[in-house]
Amino acid sequence: MTNPFKSAQSQLAQVRDILRLDLNIYERLNVPERIIEVAIPVRMDDGRTRVFTGFRSQHNNARGPYKGGIRFHPNVSADEVRALSMWMTWKTAVVDIPLGGGKGGVIVDAKSLSPRELEQLSRGYMQAIVPLIGAQADVPAPDVSTDGRVMGWMLDEYEKILGHLSPGVITGKPLSIGGSLGRDAATAQGAFYVLEKAAEKLHLSKNATVAIQGFGNGGGHLARLLFAAGYQVVAIADSKSTIYRSGGLNVPEIDEHKKITGNLETCIDCEKLPSDAVLTVPADILVPAALENALHKDNAHLVKAKLVIEIANGPTTPEAEEILLNNGVTVVPDILANAGGVTVSYFEQVQNAMNYYWTEEDVREKLKEKMGKAIGDVWQEKERYNTSVRLGAYALAVSRVAQAMKDRGRN
Ligand code: NAD
Repeated sequence: MTNPFKSAQSQLAQVRDILRLDLNIYERLNVPERIIEVAIPVRMDDGRTRVFTGFRSQHNNARGPYKGGIRFHPNVSADEVRALSMWMTWKTAVVDIPLGGGKGGVIVDAKSLSPRELEQLSRGYMQAIVPLIGAQADVPAPDVSTDGRVMGWMLDEYEKILGHLSPGVITGKPLSIGGSLGRDAATAQGAFYVLEKAAEKLHLSKNATVAIQGFGNGGGHLARLLFAAGYQVVAIADSKSTIYRSGGLNVPEIDEHKKITGNLETCIDCEKLPSDAVLTVPADILVPAALENALHKDNAHLVKAKLVIEIANGPTTPEAEEILLNNGVTVVPDILANAGGVTVSYFEQVQNAMNYYWTEEDVREKLKEKMGKAIGDVWQEKERYNTSVRLGAYALAVSRVAQAMKDRGRN
């Protein structure tokens, strides 16, 4: 299995050469500024205590407070969190918001916990990382298997420990405690803008076919948006299976089935395929929206799509990307394609600081503007260096971060 931190470092090395990056700055950007490992004891429902391992990685804060989600997943590791925190630094720079990069995670199968155990774990994780975080220091958010409810518990724990309210310390909160309208669907909304622009550049039609791996916050919302806009979503996968229908799936119906039964397989009138088949079914556009390393050296050559939009972080290994590029596939990287989430997280913090809240339309308009600017900037860099979209995005992000490092004398 490809180590995601090695992938992140190899991407940085490529852009170092393209930009002729100051080597002192490169050395500093090649590793997180800080990473901690914490032990989180939880009294389980059966009376036994289990100790879970968690991490928080702070990659870079030259442009603003560390920013990044918290993942609850059995495959979380120190290197995964390191990689994700580095990608956050580039992502906040690509969309030009005044934040840095961080990430957290706990090794746990969240689905196996009762609601009480999940709450204890969320509060325990916050107790463990409290010295590192703060609205002006490091701002967590949801990621895989964490959501608004988990953010609410963590915010409550933080504020209890500090003895005062501080809504800006965490984003992706429920609306009742300072969340932003539009945050839930923001990652997908941003990816939708990016997909539309990229499809236009590739002359794909409005009813292009799309396959989506992952039906959670990112993939699920995108499927709904694409269906509503007239795209044919021909395949959707969750961790158990892929469902496929060449004439397009009825996304609202599938949503309903999944809500009631908890799986995709009850879908009527569609083919059921193994989970990984979603990556290689015939479709114009492929959206990996699950986890890292979905596209690797052994399956990249089977991809039929002309366009890959990375909602997941790190779904394409460097070897897979080389194969895809050689086959003429355009890959729009995570640090641009999924940046809508962190952009609206930033808007949430701005609203918390003003204590004044925007309408959903305000949020959507501001997001569209930010994403539109970022897409234009990335394509300009891609053309300037005659390179891939990923390296165009990296060139933009790394040079912005390097400038902030220089201006702080951190070189
Ligand atoms: P989520 O937990 O809401 O959903 C994950 C989905 O992926 C689920 O449907 C799950 O069944 C599916 N999945 C897991 N393993 C799979 C596999 N092997 N094959 C097919 N499907 C599989 O998580 P999310 O928030 O949607 O995050 C998904 C990805 O998007 C992650 O890489 C995350 O870091 C990234 N991301 C999320 C956000 C956000 O705001 N939620 C923002 C930026 C990036």
